Amino acid sequence: MNLVLFGPPGAGKGTQSEFLQAKFGLVKLATGDMLRAAVSSGSPLGRQVQDIMAKGHLVSDIIMINLLQQRIRLPDARRGFILDGFPRTLAQAEALDRMLEDEAMRLDAVIELKVDDAKLIERIAGRFSCAKCGAGYHDSFRQPKMAGICDVCGSKEFIRREDDKAETVAQRLQAYHKKTAPSLPYYKRRGVLVSVDGMADIDEVAHQIEEVLRANKKIAKKG
Ligand code: AMP
Repeated sequence: MNLVLFGPPGAGKGTQSEFLQAKFGLVKLATGDMLRAAVSSGSPLGRQVQDIMAKGHLVSDIIMINLLQQRIRLPDARRGFILDGFPRTLAQAEALDRMLEDEAMRLDAVIELKVDDAKLIERIAGRFSCAKCGAGYHDSFRQPKMAGICDVCGSKEFIRREDDKAETVAQRLQAYHKKTAPSLPYYKRRGVLVSVDGMADIDEVAHQIEEVLRANKKIAKKG
């Protein structure tokens, strides 16, 4: 099954795609993670996108489409994938369709996590992650089980994203509303869009997504 998790920054795409990855063996393809890895390694791509990301702007379609194309061609994507953070423009959505067609793959569902802006700002302000394995946490909603120790890998080092600062978040939300949300009608017309209430707590959202996937499988079987 190939999925897109669609929604504004802070909607829970990263958290939910981690669950889907663990539960269904799907491969998480998070373009933001790919770019952050490029920035940390100091690669030419990293140097090219660093400032754009720090300002909360979108990286150009041409860079992003190339990046995803290379990743989707790797054999593990055949197991089924969850896209987190791509597409972010209509041009990327259209390019994704072409890419999948070339690889004889298809998109099964686009799951939109609907969350209002005030909630997003609250969520982003408190989030942090393990510096070693990337597991995500939150000051109010998802603390490590043992204070200061990562549940997954035991590391004691945590980081906060540079672009989670309030002024950058405002820019990222603006980019979502102006450039990303306009792809929703494209997916609606194709009949693959399902909207989930992303305001609910993490487990409830995960449950709703699972229901969507089950329904999707039923449809696939009948068809
Ligand atoms: P994310 O981790 O998905 O919130 O992405 C972090 C940042 O990476 C975004 O604010 C953008 O600057 C950049 N980025 C990630 N994915 C894309 C994309 N598909 N198109 C354009 N920029 C992207």
